[in-house]
Amino acid sequence: MPTAVALDSALVDLQTYGCQMNEYDSELARTILGREGFRFVAPDEATDAAGVVLINTCAIRETAHTKIYARLGDLKVRKRAQKDLVVGLLGCMAQNLKTELLERWPSVDFVCGPDAYRHLPHLIAEARSTNRAQHASIELSEYETYEDIAPTRVEGVNAWIAIMRGCNNFCTFCVVPYTRGRERSRDPLGVVEETRRLAADGHKQVTLLGQNVNSYRHDGRDFADLIEMVADVDGIERVRFTSPHPKDFPLKLLRVIAEHPNVCNTIHLPLQSGNDRILKAMNRGYTQEEFLDLAALMRASIPGLTLTTDIICGFPTETDADYEDTVHVVREAAFESAYIFKYSERQGTTAERKFPDDVPDDVKSRRVTELLAVQREIARAKNVAKIGSVERVLIEGASKKDPGQWRARNDGNFIVVFRDPSCAVGDVRDVRIVEATPNTLIGEPVPA
Ligand code: SF4
Repeated sequence: MPTAVALDSALVDLQTYGCQMNEYDSELARTILGREGFRFVAPDEATDAAGVVLINTCAIRETAHTKIYARLGDLKVRKRAQKDLVVGLLGCMAQNLKTELLERWPSVDFVCGPDAYRHLPHLIAEARSTNRAQHASIELSEYETYEDIAPTRVEGVNAWIAIMRGCNNFCTFCVVPYTRGRERSRDPLGVVEETRRLAADGHKQVTLLGQNVNSYRHDGRDFADLIEMVADVDGIERVRFTSPHPKDFPLKLLRVIAEHPNVCNTIHLPLQSGNDRILKAMNRGYTQEEFLDLAALMRASIPGLTLTTDIICGFPTETDADYEDTVHVVREAAFESAYIFKYSERQGTTAERKFPDDVPDDVKSRRVTELLAVQREIARAKNVAKIGSVERVLIEGASKKDPGQWRARNDGNFIVVFRDPSCAVGDVRDVRIVEATPNTLIGEPVPA
């Protein structure tokens, strides 16, 4: 049983799990609550004095759920000693499981979905009211883009900018269309204005975020138009984006990437599976051949392209032969890196309703392990081929392993470690690659 530390009612411990969109939403929540006088526990600080604990949750994989349940178990114990502690769950898991979470965890005061963050101050006040009761604020909106709320960013050279919210694609394995609602795009002028402010504040890089950036539309402008407008903002050295969908990738975007030196030559193109039958069951809208043709066109259009991907192993009914099709695409597309996961059934999805999760866990694990080994070998060979080349890097901070070295990123978003006492965070430098591992490049500065 923890000792009863005195609670600071204006102090919020906001913890974030899951994707970059969740990190961005936490930045919005900081602004919304900061306007009402709340302060925040620093990311690396551990304290039981925060009067409010908010957990921004993720519903994409079971591992995220498991971590959050473990955290809720700790908070349940803490709340026995600190009865005035307010506990709120934000994000996709909160939206997806709604009152089920409240029933299972009486120590949770409220759940708040991704379109309801403006209600956070009210939800905290309700939790502190005399007739304390659990609340759920989970309305999805067709319009909410938080356009007027500037995220409170933690310092860094990169700033994330959400250009749209929601998704209309309904891939059968994915909860996002149910937890984040329909697609809505922000006004491009608002995005450009935000980029200008970020540049003025010293940010050198922006990453435009959307569940499927191909669908961005606002007043006749598409994503290629938007990224061009953002790239033209003075002071922005690098523009990145994530993620486009392979089924409707706009070819105009390839031209914009190729023509703008500050738009990074990096595309994250989620494959998910290399087998046509599985792709159809996933409702992905492309075939193996179409994906490989697109990947080849991208490499031909953008010299030095870094192509990365996401893959799911063990989607329902996936046989060893189906999985081998995925291995084939990984070899053919020769991704620079890949996020490879076991399929995990998500509550409320079409896949949960239509397809029993019938691939045994040990088979899923074996496929992930094998595919990771294939991908690691491809990445290692590509990195070794970079030895001797000169890479332009943006310095993000000190290396974790050796604070005497800089941790920087090249255009392809790979970490490059090098030593140069004359540099500072945010500098852009040319570095010659002298050594390579599958995940890191080691360099030495090239004299100016
Ligand atoms: S495109 Fe598919 S995987 Fe991506 S968020 Fe939308 S439904 Fe989910």
